[in-house]
Amino acid sequence: MTHSIESPKPSASVIAGVIQRLSVSQLKRHKLCPRAWFFQKVMRLPEPTTGAQQVGTEGHAQLEHYLSTGEDVLGAFAQSGAHLLPAPGPDLLVEQPLDGAPPLTAGGIPFTGFIDVVNPRRLATDGVLRITDHKFTSNIASNAASAEQLADADTEPGLQMVGYGAWALGQTERFPGLRTLELEHIYYQTRGQRLAASVIASVTFEHIEREWRTKVEPQVEAMKEHAQAARADDVPANYGPACTKYGGCPFLGKCLTGENKTMSLRDKLLSKPSEFVPTTVAAVEREALELPAVLPPDAPQPAPVQMAPEVAEQPAPKRRGRPRKAPEPSPSESKSDLRVLFVDCVPTKHDGPRPESLTGYVDDMHHKVAQAGGVDDVRFAGSDSPLGFGKWRGALAMAARAELPPPGIYTALGVAQSELMQVIVEALEPSFDVVVRGIR
Ligand code: SF4
Repeated sequence: MTHSIESPKPSASVIAGVIQRLSVSQLKRHKLCPRAWFFQKVMRLPEPTTGAQQVGTEGHAQLEHYLSTGEDVLGAFAQSGAHLLPAPGPDLLVEQPLDGAPPLTAGGIPFTGFIDVVNPRRLATDGVLRITDHKFTSNIASNAASAEQLADADTEPGLQMVGYGAWALGQTERFPGLRTLELEHIYYQTRGQRLAASVIASVTFEHIEREWRTKVEPQVEAMKEHAQAARADDVPANYGPACTKYGGCPFLGKCLTGENKTMSLRDKLLSKPSEFVPTTVAAVEREALELPAVLPPDAPQPAPVQMAPEVAEQPAPKRRGRPRKAPEPSPSESKSDLRVLFVDCVPTKHDGPRPESLTGYVDDMHHKVAQAGGVDDVRFAGSDSPLGFGKWRGALAMAARAELPPPGIYTALGVAQSELMQVIVEALEPSFDVVVRGIR
């Protein structure tokens, strides 16, 4: 089967303060932080592409190709969710454009974009239309949205799915007898065990109409107003979790140097009941002088930061009409996905979850390695032991790298006094998103 290659359409457009087109991605961005949306869509500042986005883009392309043609080109991640997918067939609407007749609109502005899959197979019998969006995420248990969230346009995932539902409601001739919409996210896990999961919200016609009218329409009115701002500082900023979500806001530097800034970013972030961690090298460098007070108090300095390794996936087939789509992690992605380590220092002002001592993890790993080596304490392994002659260090480091502690904020104190802690901290550093060292 051949595919025509069309010129990608712009996903959105704002010209001279007047919004020409919208997309559900724009709604989500604006919901997350109106100022970040302004930087992206009005000022059109460039954004870097991350490795995780690349994985999601390739996965989407594989799924599109498979569902359109039946040809199994699914990579390992997409393959893990194959059992959740409908059988390929010409009746499935794959990569369905939102701007068909009649187009989806809000506040008089037409939407553009694509729905991953629209499945009308139960329309004639049950009046059910299923709308599916694929999500590639590092951790399903932490990051998947709930069914309630998918149905609520006050949440990021709900904003997207309610938008898709609103599009379907406008297609009365195309979907006769439509009574119930099933809004589905299929999640594909990209780290650790290969897993997939489906979350479905069943909603009525009336529910979608109400969500659109009472939540989305007012938001679009706010977007129209924000689009006319003369500068970013005039657009509301959502300091807090939004700044660290999805690997960190790419506009943090611009936001930080705004002319009307009266508080440090740190103060603004810490004034919210949320955890804040700098998530990119640039962010950490910028925050180096503004880190929360760190013990010992004389010289807290950020250590070099190493980003978590990116996961490679097989090349994707070319997509048809849709611009390359970045994956859209779930709302809790950034909060729950980061590993932060304070070595010989602790954050003394921190409103997020309590940092956890790494000691318990070190004890666990030590116990595992000691047990495997048949000794009580690896440090006293004799010359007849496979852990002898200091080989325990390599074994312990390998065990730690193979079984990272769950995402969270950790402290490793008294490292100089504990050989076990030293080995583990050294082994973990490359896999942590942020490492801060106290320097005496
Ligand atoms: S740094 Fe935070 S407040 Fe500023 S634009 Fe980005 S998300 Fe919004």
